[in-house]
Parts: sequence; structure tokens; C-alpha cells
Amino acid sequence: MRAPKSFRLHIGLFGRRNVGKSSILNALTSQEVSIVSDVAGTTTDPVEKPMELLPLGPVLFIDTAGIDDVGALGEKRIQKTWAALDRTDLGIIVSNSQDWGEFEEKLLNEFKDRAIPTIIVLNKSDIYESKSCLLNSFSSDKVPFVETTATNGKGILELRQTILKNAPEDFINRPSIVSDLVGPGEAAMLVVPIDKEAPKGRLILPQVQSIRDLLDGDSFCMVVKERELREALSRFNKPPKLVVTDSQAFLKVAADTPPEILLTSFSILFARHQGDLPEMVKGAMAIDQLKTGDKVLIAEACSHHPIGEDIGTVKIPRWLSQYVGGKLNIEFTRGHDFPPNIADYKLIIHCGACMWNRREMLSRIMKSRQANVPLTNYGLTIAYSLGIFERALQPFPAALEVYKNLNEKS
Ligand code: SF4
Repeated sequence: MRAPKSFRLHIGLFGRRNVGKSSILNALTSQEVSIVSDVAGTTTDPVEKPMELLPLGPVLFIDTAGIDDVGALGEKRIQKTWAALDRTDLGIIVSNSQDWGEFEEKLLNEFKDRAIPTIIVLNKSDIYESKSCLLNSFSSDKVPFVETTATNGKGILELRQTILKNAPEDFINRPSIVSDLVGPGEAAMLVVPIDKEAPKGRLILPQVQSIRDLLDGDSFCMVVKERELREALSRFNKPPKLVVTDSQAFLKVAADTPPEILLTSFSILFARHQGDLPEMVKGAMAIDQLKTGDKVLIAEACSHHPIGEDIGTVKIPRWLSQYVGGKLNIEFTRGHDFPPNIADYKLIIHCGACMWNRREMLSRIMKSRQANVPLTNYGLTIAYSLGIFERALQPFPAALEVYKNLNEKS
């Protein structure tokens, strides 16, 4: 089975039409992944290609449409290309020494502003002669560059090595999901309700990833449904270090877990792992400011259709309305689509984004910060509206401190 997307380094190829982005991708992956054509603007939606880039590991190449596209359809393609920046961990700007100009500088500045490591590829080096002033300016800006000819493979090996050298540190040493909270030789109890919303025959990704992370950290775990939790806990001679529950079972699990055992939810683990937990704690506390009729955005990374009493479309809106004491104006968004103007929302509530790389979640946090709109996630929202926020934050001292300080001031 393939590594999940969230574990892959997302490498975006950007540039104008017909500079050879798709040919570079094909040369890197040695496959016909993208449609290569002499006609400018063949690529519309970004094309994604997962592969193993050894010794780095699993990566996802994103081949984008030309940043200089024209016409109404071209405008849509450009929007999708800019949106792909939100999930890019490492950016490759493809151009040539002849045409490097305003578009490329704009891209380079955007990457710099977002602190995304960038590599410049000057393609078609068999046609266009190197310009030393251009190369000197890249060198003095400390931007790595490679000269290539994708059609005959020249420079492709060097490009692969440059990618390996410039992979962000947090990709190479990924932070753990949960094992650092448990420790080697210690146990965690994972509570997984099996209701009609649970997928048939399997566990969901945050649960699977947490189990794997515990094994990687030499911890061990027991997985139970919420009904069996009390009995399972009684069988431990030494209690587990941590209980992690699906947020929907928070109340029952909190009641059945002795107070001396730390408790949190999968969703809160992912607020830390994929996002920015202290920032999202502040976001959850904005629930107190909500009033009847306020606009709230619920954003889910998956684009699947909701089933039954879905958490995002049914349960959270219901709990929030009960907390606020009136109906809220709730809107929903799924997948990579995110409204361009978010300033009207009083709060954004996000899922754990376990399917994404961390960069995409951080991009959303950055946008919400710029628009001055608080952002939180499902687990934090549920814990807050059920009155068990402090307990759910106990495993995370820095986030708990943020909560206590803000609480004191309010
Ligand atoms: S909705 Fe979000 S948290 Fe849930 S499985 Fe999809 S990406 Fe993961």
C-alpha cells in the first residue's frame, strides 16, 4: 500500500506555459505523467504524481498550469496554480535564461514570503545560452539553480540531487503524532467508536497513523470501543500514560477515564501535528463571542459525501447552536477549495486535515490570521462546547498555558 499523501513531500513545478514543466516532471519520474505538447497551456488542473525519491522517501510532484495563461479558462487555471502554492513544501520554478522576467520574479518573491525552499530550473539550455548576470543574481540571493535540457536528460540528475539537498528539515525529521506523549515502553489506550458513520472494514487514517506512530516510538497501545473502555482500563496493572478518543465520544470517555490519566482526542493530536495547536486553542475560545446569525465556515479536507449523523455537517452545527443558544449561518467547504474572501466569517472550524501535508493546513492558518478570523478544529470545538477543554489540553502544557492566560484575561 502506498504512503498516504500527508507523508509525502509536496514538490510543485511552476512557470509559464510551454517552458517544459511537464517534460521536467517526466524526466524526473521517467514516465509520461503529464501531457507534453508543443502547444502552450496543455496542463489545466494541477497533475499530481506520487513517487519514491530515494533516499528522501515518498514525494508528490504537482505539475501546474502556466502562470501566464490567458482568457476566461486561463484565469481559472491560474487560480488553481496559485492555490497549489498552498500545499507546496518545495517549489521549482521552471524557465529559461532568455525569458526569465516578471512572472518568475513574482513567483520567487511569493515563495520567499512563504518561506518555501525554492529551486530554479533553467530549461532548454541547449537552445538558450546561460546569462552570467542572471546566474550571479541567483547565487547572491542564495537560490539554488540547475540548468537542464529535459528532452535529452541533461541536468536531471543534478536536479534530483538539488531537491534532496533542499528538502525542508521538518520533512526529514517529522514530528511524532502521539508517541512523544507516551514514551518508549509505555501504553496508550485508543478509543474508536464503531458506529454507522465508521467506514466498513477498516479504521480511519488518523487512527491508523496514531497506531503506527506509537509503534515507531516503541510504545504499545490497546484499541477499544467506548463501551469497553472502563473494563479495559481495569485490566492494566499500570495505567496507560494517555487515552486518545474520537472526539464524538469525548463525554463518555472523560467520564470513564480516571482524572489522573491524561486524555485527549485524535483530532486535537492532529491540530498539533498538522497545524498550530496554541493558535487553534485561541480559535476555539472565539466560540464564546459567537452570536445567533453569525457566519461560520466548516472546512473539511476530504471531499467525500457525508454519511448519516456526520460530524462536520450535523453534529458540530448542532452542538454549536446549542452552545450559542440560536441558529448560526454555517457554510461548508471541502477539499482544496477555500473561499477567497474569508473576512466575513466569525470563525473557521477545520477537520484534522490528516490527508494533507502540513503546509496546506499552515497556509489556511496563515490566511485566517491575515484576515483576522479565528480558526480552530473539530476536536477543540467539541471539547470546548462540551466543557472539557482544559482536560483535553492537559497533555499539551504550552497550549494549556495559552488557554489559562486567555481565560484569566476574559
Ligand atoms: S475529514 Fe479531515 S480529518 Fe477526517 S479523514 Fe478527511 S482529512 Fe482526515
